[in-house]
Amino acid sequence: MPRIVIEQDKCKGCLLCASFCPKGLIKKADKLNKLGLNPVEFDAKGCLGCMQCAVICPDCCIRIYK
Ligand code: SF4
Ligand code: SF4
Repeated sequence: MPRIVIEQDKCKGCLLCASFCPKGLIKKADKLNKLGLNPVEFDAKGCLGCMQCAVICPDCCIRIYK
C-alpha cells in the first residue's frame, strides 16, 4: 500500500487535493496547524497511489511513497 506524507503545517486547507482524490480519502482535520488553519488528513486505506492529490497541491504539501 502506498505511504502518504502530508506536511500539515504548510497546508492551507484549500481542499483542492480532496476534490481530485477518486477514492474520497482526503478530509479536513479537526486540529489547527501552525498557520492557524485546518489542514487535511488522509485515510490511507484504499489509496490507489495515483498521485493526483500530490500533483495538484499548489503548495507541494503531499508526498507519496510506493
Ligand atoms: S494517491 Fe490518489 S487515491 Fe491516494 S489519496 Fe492521493 S488522490 Fe487519493
Ligand atoms: S491541495 Fe495542498 S494546500 Fe490544499 S488542502 Fe490539499 S494538501 Fe492542503
